[in-house]
Amino acid sequence: MRVLVYKGPGQKAVEDRPVPKITEPTDAIIKIVKTTICGTDLHILKGDVPTVTPGRILGHEGVGVIQEVGAAVATFRPGDRVIVSCISSCGKCEYCRKGMYSHCTTGGWILGNTIDGTQAEYVRIPYADTSLYHVPTGVDEDSLVMLSDILPTGFECGVLNGKVQPGSTIAIVGAGPVGLAALLTAQFYSPAESIMIDLDDNRLEVSTRFGATATINNKDGKATEKLMRITGGRGVDTAIEAVGVPASFLLCQDIVAPGGVIANIGVHGMKADLHLERLWDRNIAITTRLVDTVTTPMLLKTVQSRKVDPKRLITHRFKRDMILDAYETFGHAAKTNALKVIIED
Ligand SMILES: [Zn+2]
Ligand SMILES: [Zn+2]
Repeated sequence: MRVLVYKGPGQKAVEDRPVPKITEPTDAIIKIVKTTICGTDLHILKGDVPTVTPGRILGHEGVGVIQEVGAAVATFRPGDRVIVSCISSCGKCEYCRKGMYSHCTTGGWILGNTIDGTQAEYVRIPYADTSLYHVPTGVDEDSLVMLSDILPTGFECGVLNGKVQPGSTIAIVGAGPVGLAALLTAQFYSPAESIMIDLDDNRLEVSTRFGATATINNKDGKATEKLMRITGGRGVDTAIEAVGVPASFLLCQDIVAPGGVIANIGVHGMKADLHLERLWDRNIAITTRLVDTVTTPMLLKTVQSRKVDPKRLITHRFKRDMILDAYETFGHAAKTNALKVIIED
């Protein structure tokens, strides 16, 4: 089968590999129908994620068809169409029993990280019963690819941890796919104001279409001033960090209102300052989280009932043999206006 392989910092290649086999009775082998590229894959390619070693097949998102299941798999059968979760969970360890699947002692984020991933024709999924979801009939499968990672990530790490409330004021720093997923799912709670901050006018325009009540381009570095004008000098109840660089975390510290929450989503590769000397008396909270995907069944229902339409995040489509072009397009988003790309047969 043809696969996309990480070859070390700055290097990737399309290679031939044997189709994976069942190695544990809880495994399933999935034929991938649609997959995508995540910002995290770009971090990996930069060499930012040391757990990913050269030779690894990338990818942790996708929709597919079950080819084969191990003897212990009870809820899936060959031919079933499934959503692959970016998080594998055994369902039995202490963290899984708490609903913190991201820290499963033998799972968590392993796909396309410490085991081979979904940017391939076939993938082996461990703990199939607790890491896959049935595709409901009549639901568009492009939308479901967004349920593997970005929708639950934006919702759990941004909206839930950020305690978005009816009537509250929120700001999302970073209008990339995950920031936009947070914006879409924040609307479940009817915030009064949703302010998007980015450096890219196209992404800010998309934000307006997705329900942002104000947008700020921070190219001039004056986002704090502009946001304070919008909020009457108060700041925001929820500041969601969806970039993963020190400057965006600093901006969140500048714009959070007393009693507010800074909810970090971004993958940080370097040290970021925390100005506790300014924040110690402001009754704020700072949260961090790796997506647990505990809300995936709930989000699936909202997609099914069209309360949320994550298909709007898809800007480009590629055939599987054009995956290098897909990386090129996704990796130069400022030029191509790419949000999510679908890679399919
Ligand atoms: Zn991801
Ligand atoms: Zn576990």
